[in-house]
Amino acid sequence: MSMTIHTGTIAHVRGDPFGAEEALEIIEQGALAIDRSGRIGLLGERNAVFEAFPNSEIIDHGNAWLIPGLIDGHLHFPQFYATAGPGNGLLDWLENTVYPAEASFADELFARAAAERFVRHLLACGTTTAMVFGSQFYDANLALFDAAARSGIRLITGMTLMDRNAPPILLRTAEQSLDPVEKLIGLCRTTPRLYYAITPRFALSCSPALLEMCGALLKCHPETYLQTHINETRTETAAVRAAFPRSRHYLDVYDGFGLITERTMLAHSIHTTDAELDRMAEAACAVCHCPTSNAYLGSGLFPLQKHLTRGIRVAMGTDVGAGTQFSVWRELSQAYKVQQLRDCRLDACHLLYLATLGGAKALGLEHEAGSFETGKSADFFVLDYEQDSYLAARLGRCENAMDQLFCLLHLADERHVGATYVHGRLAAPRNRSLP
Ligand SMILES: [Zn+2]
Repeated sequence: MSMTIHTGTIAHVRGDPFGAEEALEIIEQGALAIDRSGRIGLLGERNAVFEAFPNSEIIDHGNAWLIPGLIDGHLHFPQFYATAGPGNGLLDWLENTVYPAEASFADELFARAAAERFVRHLLACGTTTAMVFGSQFYDANLALFDAAARSGIRLITGMTLMDRNAPPILLRTAEQSLDPVEKLIGLCRTTPRLYYAITPRFALSCSPALLEMCGALLKCHPETYLQTHINETRTETAAVRAAFPRSRHYLDVYDGFGLITERTMLAHSIHTTDAELDRMAEAACAVCHCPTSNAYLGSGLFPLQKHLTRGIRVAMGTDVGAGTQFSVWRELSQAYKVQQLRDCRLDACHLLYLATLGGAKALGLEHEAGSFETGKSADFFVLDYEQDSYLAARLGRCENAMDQLFCLLHLADERHVGATYVHGRLAAPRNRSLP
């Protein structure tokens, strides 16, 4: 059988390092054989792979590293141009920076151009799978779907739903939301690598009627996901308590409407109580850690260990626009620093896991993405440090490949991404200027 074989230093995580599974594999002089359907045929030492598949096309990446495509578990499409906006905490920032930016996606032409750029930007950062809050405007979501389908990126997204506490242009009642959401769910069924996520923004933006509709949709369409925010800041958590006095806690607001399932992704979860954590573990929902955003808005330090000890799946997220960059890779360095402040020590394997296989598991996509197991989709990016003379010299001082990976995790960024492949296809070529 003829394959396409990519060569370089190959690193991936095969198991859960937090569960003491044997996990990190680094193959210097490695090769990755990809079949014609875009799936991984074989990973191994260069010569062994060449021997197994003679007469294959060879793409030699030299000394660059090949890493599984990064998984961004949480960011916002209509905040593409809302990065680095001022705000005094979450609620003030939403009102003054975010809602005006999101309203501009009412303009379809603007949204189309933004969607194209958004998807290309993610790919250029090495992200091959992303869970994305879509726009409040149906046509803007169609634009995002089109851009995603053309690029081949794996996208989980849905229309951001809200019916209160924001400018009227962004609000839709449950009745007004139902038809467009159903149409978008239908479109996802027929588009490869596109998945629908029912997306109530957060408890303060949603009336009980809207949350009830979300629960009904989730039940009716079991292939969909649900994404929302939880326990991001203390002010928000107190406001939710006041708005939903009958709920025992923040999680209970969502739980009461059937929104907490193994298909649910909750962003932030910083000020989450033990009772909520126990319920999250029982319901087997996932959580997304967005350390840059949390620092930017002064939200707090995510208690990673408390989630992991209960077996709660955790993904990494950039949370653009509160996050100030699109690179999940850079987010890992930030996660390392935030967890240091919580006395939680992470090594290179833990970090790489969170952005690859751990993220895939959090999204229920571990059969398809997150590592280089045979049969998975060939999603990866090429990390090329050689043009960076400082980084090349620093890696030269390392004793082994594991130490080099740790350096790369802290010192490399999206400018070192040489190329990104999704399902075996070149989706973002080398380009020093980011889209
Ligand atoms: Zn968010």
